Amino acid sequence: MKILCIGRNYEEHAKELNNPVPERPVVFMKPASSMLVGNKPFYYPEFTKDLHYEGEIVLKIAKNGRHIQREFARDYFNEIAFGIDFTARDLQSELKKKGHPWELAKAFDGSAVLSEFISLDRVNRDAIEFQLSKNGEVVQHGNTRDMIFSFEDIIVFVSQYFKLLMGDLIFTGTPAGVGPVQPGDTLEGRIFTHDGPLKLLHCDIK
Ligand code: ZN
Repeated sequence: MKILCIGRNYEEHAKELNNPVPERPVVFMKPASSMLVGNKPFYYPEFTKDLHYEGEIVLKIAKNGRHIQREFARDYFNEIAFGIDFTARDLQSELKKKGHPWELAKAFDGSAVLSEFISLDRVNRDAIEFQLSKNGEVVQHGNTRDMIFSFEDIIVFVSQYFKLLMGDLIFTGTPAGVGPVQPGDTLEGRIFTHDGPLKLLHCDIK
């Protein structure tokens, strides 16, 4: 399986990092070995001094497909999770400056934190509200209706390049409010369902 990630998909977040708003999706990947599931703790890596959280909605691909057409794009996912795209921001800035790929800063072990998946039937699928809190304080509050590229846009675009396989995951981008974490911090991710906010993700930084 593969993990595709979309960068700069919320205008306010692109601006906070002084990045231009993209004309087509910014895509990168994480290996399966980067996944951290089951609300296990995350161990702060030695190669960074500026580890950032990025809270994101993650899609799970429900069936195989390539060159997926827009009218069918919705049929390719029916579950979502709360994810954290951990990023070594200092390392990423260095790599960006040199024009190098981002993997060292974004695809390391534990960098893809994932909650359990819930059915899209439980949320307003065209406007999914979600929030990330750090030590009990809300630091990111997003709504997927503010994405530059919708879930369907993303599916159509990435499937022109990569055959999507059942079980593949797509991190769909982070809203404004990214920031650093330190050992001792706790992150919690919530998705707003028809029944109210649902705490799905808990991650202690060690
Ligand atoms: Zn991200």
